[in-house]
Amino acid sequence: MIDHNPKWLTLYQKASLAAEAAKKAETSPGAAGRCMAAAQVNGGPACVCPICKARRASGREIGQFDAFWRDQATPHDLADILERAQKDLIVTLENGTETRVETLSPPASKTPDGQDFRLAWDNADEFQRYLAQWLPEIAARIDGDPPEASTDLADTVRRARDFLMPLTEAPEVTKGAAGMSRRAYSVAALRLLDEVENLSAAFASAPADDDGDEPPEHEQRWWRECFAEIAVRAFNAGMLARAAGGKEIEADALKKRGEVAKNQKNAPKGGDKNRLKKEERYAVLNRLARESFNLFSNVGDRQALRNAKSLAREYDRTADPKLFASEAGKPLRDIWFKDWLATFRLPGNSIY
Ligand SMILES: [Zn+2]
Repeated sequence: MIDHNPKWLTLYQKASLAAEAAKKAETSPGAAGRCMAAAQVNGGPACVCPICKARRASGREIGQFDAFWRDQATPHDLADILERAQKDLIVTLENGTETRVETLSPPASKTPDGQDFRLAWDNADEFQRYLAQWLPEIAARIDGDPPEASTDLADTVRRARDFLMPLTEAPEVTKGAAGMSRRAYSVAALRLLDEVENLSAAFASAPADDDGDEPPEHEQRWWRECFAEIAVRAFNAGMLARAAGGKEIEADALKKRGEVAKNQKNAPKGGDKNRLKKEERYAVLNRLARESFNLFSNVGDRQALRNAKSLAREYDRTADPKLFASEAGKPLRDIWFKDWLATFRLPGNSIY
């Protein structure tokens, strides 16, 4: 059979499979008892127990991959490797109702979350650990100059718009004055984002002195970069302040979730039944969606909707009674999944 994969992918897959096999061999019952590695003297024949054989194979394949990316990989290969590894090394960190998706890194790494990677690290196989360790170096070989502030700002604004646009039409989740509704806030936020862009452009091109001439292009550009630097920081400060303030509410939300789970065990009656059914469906779908986070990050609403429906379908294949079906057994309607998606994409729920 002809291998149509690019070379990096072939080597990557081989290393990945070999490391997986080694991990399996280590945990297979009785295998450790057959290992003679400890009894081998220097220069003696290598142990041929399943563990040692699998470990050697894994080391060999990882070595091949290592040699390839260091000496032969093109910048394009390196970018593909980085992208693939980031997908394969997803770790979900949690705090309160917030979750964040990160790339696995060694637990001792000097980020505040270093220790939180411990469990994922312990569960990782040799190739995953190898990748986690060398990813920064691979990334460093690709990245030229760090992105300009204006690129950073454009990216932030784009993600914020993607998040806000659906909310301007989504059903409200709270009752009360319209000016404090989710829709009103979303519309206002979109307007502020427009203003950031418009004001930056206006100030950057405003004549600096009495002659009334616009500053030269390079100077305008310099100003726009300055404004972008400030805008991104201000935006992030707002997001973090909001998240910090929300931690107290998250504690209540978690308490509430616990109660809901308890109530579900005590056979709900009457009017509570529908609400609890919804809570249960949300809880399950949230969990499934977080486990397959890549199905929801960086995809449009229509695709995300399709993905949500297929997760629900998949879940119901083995569920009895079916969770994502009406009492008559019909699948839930699109509008139900749309509502769910809008909630799932709230900041506390980690789309960003
Ligand atoms: Zn052995």
